[in-house]
Amino acid sequence: MSAPLRVAVAGAGVFGLASALALVRAGAQVTLHDPGPLAGNASAVAAGMLAPMSEALTDPAAAGHLDLLQAALALWPSFAERYGLDLDRTGARLLGDEARLSALSASAQALGITAPYQEIGSLPSLAGGYGSAIAGGLDIAGDWRIDAAALLRLGAVAEGLGVTRRPGPPSPADHDVLVVATGPSLDFLNAAPELARLTPIRGHILRYPSMNYEGPVLRGPGAYAVPSAQGLLVGATMEPGQGQAVVDPEIAAGLAAQAQDVFPGLAQQSWSAAVGVRAATPDGLPLVGVSARPGVILASGARRNGWLLAPLVGEVVAACAFDRDPGPWGARLAPTRDLG
Ligand SMILES: Cc1cc2nc3c(=O)[nH]c(=O)nc-3n(C[C@H](O)[C@H](O)[C@H](O)COP(=O)(O)OP(=O)(O)OC[C@H]3O[C@@H](n4cnc5c(N)ncnc54)[C@H](O)[C@@H]3O)c2cc1C
Repeated sequence: MSAPLRVAVAGAGVFGLASALALVRAGAQVTLHDPGPLAGNASAVAAGMLAPMSEALTDPAAAGHLDLLQAALALWPSFAERYGLDLDRTGARLLGDEARLSALSASAQALGITAPYQEIGSLPSLAGGYGSAIAGGLDIAGDWRIDAAALLRLGAVAEGLGVTRRPGPPSPADHDVLVVATGPSLDFLNAAPELARLTPIRGHILRYPSMNYEGPVLRGPGAYAVPSAQGLLVGATMEPGQGQAVVDPEIAAGLAAQAQDVFPGLAQQSWSAAVGVRAATPDGLPLVGVSARPGVILASGARRNGWLLAPLVGEVVAACAFDRDPGPWGARLAPTRDLG
């Protein structure tokens, strides 16, 4: 019997963990390297929306990738079941004034997304109702959600399956393949020159611990509200070029003010802020697959959809590590693709 493939995964965010788990399933012996605490990264502060349709409708960088994002979502039920994660299938609702909703409705029709209109009066709401600019909502039944606390669960499952966690860097003698899943970090630029295509986008997100809300994710203009076990999450800023994972109180306060315009009931509530730094490529998709450097595989650059993409990324990484066909999305994600 031949010795198992030894894989070092650098980075214990959702991409690194999904990769480690898929590699173990495929028969590899995996070490996971991260100098930071588990859940001290962008993955841990994320809102956890698994939302191909809302993203395609509200983020120009995602509109052209709806097919791939939907394929990623389709992997979630089996991924969640395998690792004991609680998938919230309540759906999402896009809020806005008449003009916004009619533009979103036209885009939904063009993309083949079912998004029935709901009058404001029939919308369940947060305490305090909706701001005066909100005329109604479009229901997106097929978007789901996962609590980002699932990162800890994935870490525990990986450990249980024999993945060894190390704070130090991987040493070349210890592995046959290196997977670089370090988010926006350029520490492995020498090993994987494709990382030079990544730019950081910082995001602030607010937690309202005493706001209880159960219902669909609510996505208004300028702010969304997401139920979570630790209170309501309200996000999120997109700050291109900002790579410091440090809360800026002014930006956090600006987000809170924007959110109050949509959800006036937030005005009386206390909140705390967190930040994460997303990594992004020019075409909005991550770099996933073999590097031009032999023995190196990338899984970085998730932008706004790291949680959504994670199961797909794991599968592509595992296929590449074992020199198998990465499947129908491999070429779209390949780190060596033409990014202009
Ligand atoms: C406010 C906010 C809200 C978001 N909401 C959503 C959402 O609703 N849905 C969704 O799908 N996505 C969302 N995202 C995006 C998502 O969080 C990211 O796309 C995803 O977490 C990226 O995962 P990652 O594993 O690539 O990177 P990270 O989570 O950043 O993990 C990278 C890891 O690499 C480690 N690392 C760095 N340098 C080294 C090194 N030299 N050696 C070893 N390890 C290293 C870091 O310590 C870190 O743990 C959101 C992001 C933010 C900021």
